[in-house]
Amino acid sequence: MTVEPPAAPDGVPIFPIDATLEASARKAWPLGLCPECLGRLFGRHGHGLSNPERAVRIANAIGSPIPATPLEGCALCRGAFDRWETWISRGQRATEGLEYRRFACGSRWDPEILAREETIWSEVGATHAEAARGAFNREWGKRIEAATGIPGGPLDPEVVVLADLPAGRVEVTILPIYVRGRYRKLDRSIPQTRWPCRRCEGRGCEHCAGTGKTYPTSVEELVAAPFLATTHGEGTRFHGMGREDIDARMLGRGRPFVLEVLRPRVRTLDLIALSERAKVASEGRVEILEPVLAGPADVLRVKEATPEKSYRVGVRADVPVAKINEALSFVTGRAIAQRTPTRVAHRRSDLIRSRRIRHARVVEASEGRFTLDLRAEAGTYIKEWAEGDGGRTEPNLAGLIGAPVTVEFLDVLEIHDTE
Ligand SMILES: [Zn+2]
Ligand SMILES: [Zn+2]
Repeated sequence: MTVEPPAAPDGVPIFPIDATLEASARKAWPLGLCPECLGRLFGRHGHGLSNPERAVRIANAIGSPIPATPLEGCALCRGAFDRWETWISRGQRATEGLEYRRFACGSRWDPEILAREETIWSEVGATHAEAARGAFNREWGKRIEAATGIPGGPLDPEVVVLADLPAGRVEVTILPIYVRGRYRKLDRSIPQTRWPCRRCEGRGCEHCAGTGKTYPTSVEELVAAPFLATTHGEGTRFHGMGREDIDARMLGRGRPFVLEVLRPRVRTLDLIALSERAKVASEGRVEILEPVLAGPADVLRVKEATPEKSYRVGVRADVPVAKINEALSFVTGRAIAQRTPTRVAHRRSDLIRSRRIRHARVVEASEGRFTLDLRAEAGTYIKEWAEGDGGRTEPNLAGLIGAPVTVEFLDVLEIHDTE
């Protein structure tokens, strides 16, 4: 038999309450659940109703009023759905002073409650129930939106607000800011990233004068400083598209990087002004070009790219320029075999790699000194190619000219990542 539900004055479509639904409701009514939890057992019936409204309609239809359940006394949710004001004020306290334009929300539940929910579903034969956690999260999101005016949703949130129900507190995860750009390094004494002291591993010791670092500063620190200060972040990560040697400059259009600012409290940034500040504060040692806001996908892109690079290298060799020219035309377009150089063998596995020199030419020659421009595949060790690295690179410039070669300087002229 189908019981007709009462007319809906609000115009919300009325769902049919058939014998199956009625039987389920009659089993559910004595379980000591609050109207929210009762209505949710039938949550996928009657679209457009709140769960308590749905419970009332079912109660009227089956002629059995909703049992009075004391506040906090719900056998399932323990009153979680009756404490919105508390949750909202906890949420507001936890996000106080944070700038964000999009949020996502969630909740942590006692696993016992979630298990009990499933038991109740099967006991009453609820086939159209909605889960407590999903319903809580949806309501929680709506209420935060209403209180803050900030849109919620799972797409690209800047903070995640988590209600920890068993602990009675709100946890906030602040997502990083990503800034993508290109850096130029005009100094031959700074590494790309902060380099912890080997003796103390960053804690600070006599050897590093308490700094915890091998070098006083790095591109990472010089780039990050103004961003960190402005965002009140808690730290940074620096992702470069490869790296140059400490004593090599990075010229041309610079090297692509992504700076990740962790737990920023401020997100409105004038990227151009901050880049200018980094340049001034670094005394011109580091410049940031083309800064734009980015995302985690850019980190992957930067880490996985293997662009060709152009170098300018200054070498000393006691031979006439004709000999150098001859060697360069021999290597152009040719694969060279490079065994992992001795200087990096402590952090890279020892293997032999094949790399190609695309172009090579002499741009300046004087008595025993030559400036060469080279373009090579990603991962070519230029210094080793020039000097030979004790035969670990073959063919090498020293071998080809039959005289020792010393590299005097090395600059990266261009990263060909956009070709
Ligand atoms: Zn409840
Ligand atoms: Zn140290």
